Amino acid sequence: MNNTAKQIAVLGSTGSIGHNALEVIAASNGRLQACALSAHTRFAELVQQARQHRPRWVIASHERQAAAFDWSDLPEETELLLGSSGLAQVVAQPSVDVVLAAIMGSAGLESTWQALEHKKTVAIANKEALVAAGPLVTQLAAAQGAQLLPVDSEHSAIFQALQAGRPAEVERLVLTASGGPFRHLSTEELKAVTVAEALEHPVWKMGPKITVDSATMMNKALEIVEAHWLFGIAPECIDVVIHPQSIVHSLVEYVDGAVVAQLSPPDMRLPIQYALYYPERVAGVAERLDWKQAFSCEFEPPTPRQQVALDLGYQCAQAGGTSGAVLNAANEAAVGAFLAGELHFTEIVPACQSVLEAHAFVAAPTLSQLIAMDRWAREEILNWVCT
Ligand code: MG
Repeated sequence: MNNTAKQIAVLGSTGSIGHNALEVIAASNGRLQACALSAHTRFAELVQQARQHRPRWVIASHERQAAAFDWSDLPEETELLLGSSGLAQVVAQPSVDVVLAAIMGSAGLESTWQALEHKKTVAIANKEALVAAGPLVTQLAAAQGAQLLPVDSEHSAIFQALQAGRPAEVERLVLTASGGPFRHLSTEELKAVTVAEALEHPVWKMGPKITVDSATMMNKALEIVEAHWLFGIAPECIDVVIHPQSIVHSLVEYVDGAVVAQLSPPDMRLPIQYALYYPERVAGVAERLDWKQAFSCEFEPPTPRQQVALDLGYQCAQAGGTSGAVLNAANEAAVGAFLAGELHFTEIVPACQSVLEAHAFVAAPTLSQLIAMDRWAREEILNWVCT
């Protein structure tokens, strides 16, 4: 292990963000080292990654499945840790410089929280942690002096564009959305959307949950909440524009009317690399725009149907409290039900809306209240599916 390398704990290394992060690390010429890798159940792949990256630790978060797995191919110098206590142990290590929080869904909240408690720089790819517990997570980061660096491409773009002016000079943030594969379908056509169709994103290659979220626009609704908490910007100063090419990753409009954007081909390796090396920029593996080729960037406002999902995001950013946790959990459960063939594509957003409306709002919840509300919202979706 190279001791001068920045030590990166990649939590969720077998997911889409994890794969891209390991490519960035592999291309770093020893400047970055994956000191820890974690997976929930894809252990064969985790072992393969460990053989390539030689981490100090691997964490198998699903303890029961880990007990049944043959770990004999793990490199000798790599220590196997289990469960959430294994994740907690790694984020507490003094040698860890950056925790890449890429465990999907609300499962990633606990380790993100512990990393911040240990004053770690957290490159946060898990938007659900910010949506569900935005005020608590950002307060904890501020109180501990821990840095939260966005990995979500839109928020990375905003973070980069914000460096062009002072906070008081920011007029609005504009999040771009590809609009997903179904933006021109009629309501009738949408009802018939299959799981396979929803998993085919025209521009980005991502995991199933976020691909479905892009198609329903719930991804952008969650990103409104995420931007609100990450950047401390009022919800009414956050706009969404549909930009099908996904080249402009988001924009910041300043008080003088100047708009500053970050552009690059749709390739997650760039925002990941920016967060892992921050505040440095280095030549990396991400694709580049080819200025010798003609290309165009279109922008259009969201359709009324897309706006219904976006409004749930605005509502949660406005209300704060338990609403983000409820929206996030309801959406995760609804997407799960859709992928299992138990809910129509067009029912995902209304199901989320009904659960959000039915919940007993708490304005200043504790973390355990948020976790309880998360569980409640998931159960509510199950009822919605059955009726
Ligand atoms: Mg995004």
